[in-house]
Parts: sequence; C-alpha cells; structure tokens
Amino acid sequence: MAIRTILRYPDPVLLTSCEPVGDDLEGIEELVRDMADTMFAHNGAGLAAIQIGVTKRLFIVDPVVAGREEDDPPMVFIDPEIVQLGRETEVSEEGCLSFPGVYVPIKRPYRARARARDLRGQVFEIEGEGLFARAMQHETEHLDGRLLTDHVGRIKRQMIKRKMEREAEEATL
Ligand code: ZN
Repeated sequence: MAIRTILRYPDPVLLTSCEPVGDDLEGIEELVRDMADTMFAHNGAGLAAIQIGVTKRLFIVDPVVAGREEDDPPMVFIDPEIVQLGRETEVSEEGCLSFPGVYVPIKRPYRARARARDLRGQVFEIEGEGLFARAMQHETEHLDGRLLTDHVGRIKRQMIKRKMEREAEEATL
C-alpha cells in the first residue's frame, strides 16, 4: 500500500496537459494501485494521475460512484475521452482532492458517455448519470490541466487561491 502525496492548487503541475498512456501499460497497474490507496485514504470520488504528479492521461473513479459494489476495485480510465454529453444539466457542489475544503457549485450535463481503455488495454464505453457523470467530466478535465477554478469567476478564483495559499503557509509553520 502506498498513499501518495496529492498536489494542491496552485501547484503548477496541475495545469499541465497530460501525455497519452498509449499501448505501453508497463507500470500502470502499480500506479493505479497507489492511486486507489490515495483516493480511498482521502474519501475521494475520483482521482487523476496528474494529482499525484504523474502527467499521464489516466484516472480512476470510486467503485460505488461508478455503480459497482463497495468491495470492487476503482474503475480505471486510460486515455479517456468524453464522447457524448446529455442535454439535461444539473448544478451541484463539486469538490476536488487538490482543493481540500473547497466546494463550488458547477453546472454540468447530467449524463455523460466516456470511451477509454482498461488495465488490459481493452477499449470500453460507459454511460453514467449524476455523480458518476460529473466525476468522469471532472477527471477528464484534469488531464488537460483544467480545474475547479476554471468554472468560477475571477473574484471567486482569487478567494480560492488565497485560501489555499493561507493553508499551505499554516502547514509549513
Ligand atoms: Zn479533482
């Protein structure tokens, strides 16, 4: 078990556009294990590799959020893309493990369909609604360096930035 450090906003790595994983899946299983340990340790709904400093196009989603059983492993999305978004939208408070304690209301399509590859390299498509659809959209945005702060206005963005910087300062005292 290896719980890795989660990068926090405004760490510039979080703004990176990630590289495709491609066909070479060596080391990916181990990376996913660490990501799962880290996500479960922080009660996250999902986690992108970039959040632990690995700038590859890969994320995981909590099994329950993905409609599976609690004991199931997280759902793994390698080189994912959102292929379809529903027209119906929903506003919901959204958090992110890179912004502890920050929640912002974000309007997103209620349904989303993603295409990705699993740990064996098999392509799959999956459709989700509600929190699952939201998680797939949120995590896919991480892979292009997009964050919660891209969904809020300038003033709110400044407030979030100050809050995060203040906490980082307090943590180093
Ligand atoms: Zn996030």
